[in-house]
Amino acid sequence: MARVAIVGAGIVGAVLAHRLAREGRHEITLIDAAMSAGQGVSGRSFGWLTQIAGRRAPSPEAAAVRAEGRAGYDVLNDALDGKLFVSGEGAIAWQESESETAAMIAERRALGIEVEALDAADIARLAPHLDEVPPLAAHAPRDIFLRPGLAAARLAQDAGEHGASLLYGHSVLGIETANGRVTGLRTAETVLPAEVVVLATGTGIARLLPGGVTAPEIGSSPSALITLYAEGPAPTLALSGPGLEIRKDRRADHFLVAATWRPESERELDALAAEKMAVAQRWFPDLRNWRIASAGIAARPMPRTASGCLAEPAGGIEGLYLACGHPGVALAPVIAERIAGLLD
Ligand SMILES: Cc1cc2nc3c(=O)[nH]c(=O)nc-3n(C[C@H](O)[C@H](O)[C@H](O)COP(=O)(O)OP(=O)(O)OC[C@H]3O[C@@H](n4cnc5c(N)ncnc54)[C@H](O)[C@@H]3O)c2cc1C
Repeated sequence: MARVAIVGAGIVGAVLAHRLAREGRHEITLIDAAMSAGQGVSGRSFGWLTQIAGRRAPSPEAAAVRAEGRAGYDVLNDALDGKLFVSGEGAIAWQESESETAAMIAERRALGIEVEALDAADIARLAPHLDEVPPLAAHAPRDIFLRPGLAAARLAQDAGEHGASLLYGHSVLGIETANGRVTGLRTAETVLPAEVVVLATGTGIARLLPGGVTAPEIGSSPSALITLYAEGPAPTLALSGPGLEIRKDRRADHFLVAATWRPESERELDALAAEKMAVAQRWFPDLRNWRIASAGIAARPMPRTASGCLAEPAGGIEGLYLACGHPGVALAPVIAERIAGLLD
């Protein structure tokens, strides 16, 4: 039985800890600098498992792993007695023009993605209270949403209930090695012995790599999560159209909006949030008392691999593995499965 230390209790590390702890073949420690699981980027994520959002279709490799990830969440949800998803009501997306939306639907279908074409009457039925109804939209009935921070916390807790040690509030400072093998982790207080270390620290992976270790580049892409408040009836499924990606939050009268943040635009976060709220007000004119409840930015880790999945040994040190993905929530079950396979 190997001692396996997983560094990072975001959605990626938590799914892996849950997977390995339930398997029971290794002694698992999940360690995070924060005081609980799901406090990193996962705690500030939109949490949409989709293949229809975005102007460009995913590559065939990316589409295949995202489909695998979506299936993986059904297994995770069953293991957690159905408590993982916030909502599974599907989503609709459309582009600027009808022809662009038609092309989007055709591209997704060619990749084997389950997507239905909706006309204006269907859209009005599925998304009542939406004022600017487009003539055509893509509908993904199996799209689901998570609160990834909450999901990470639940999965980590489940790993603990299946024997994993959960160490919060411990920042890992480095990897201990001897003769080209991992021997443990160094924190400010102690050295934790381990034969296997999995780095699931998102954009922080590069900082923890021992000198001379080769690893694929992991970029970082800032994205904003904005919470809007408004009173009144609104659709419960996610909507993605020109200028806005929005879904109802589980809290009454709250809506989550995700927006790519481009620092070079020199636009203040407040201005971006106000711009998104203006689009939302146009889409839902019946809602009242609009206000921006919160806005924050987090850097999404972006492994430069064909599928967006990084689940592999770090070159040069035996026992050291890297676990990361983009989109990280969608790919977490795939990454966990691959790392588990490598430990066999
Ligand atoms: C606004 C926004 C919207 C998004 N929307 C989606 C979406 O709809 N769908 C989707 O799939 N993805 C989405 N993403 C991306 C997704 O949230 C991330 O890819 C994912 O959460 C990354 O998870 P992770 O576990 O790799 O990293 P994190 O959640 O950041 O976890 C890493 C953990 O490592 C810990 N850590 C770091 N360094 C150390 C250290 N030295 N010692 C100990 N602990 C350490 C941190 O405390 C943290 O808890 C979105 C992201 C943002 C910001």
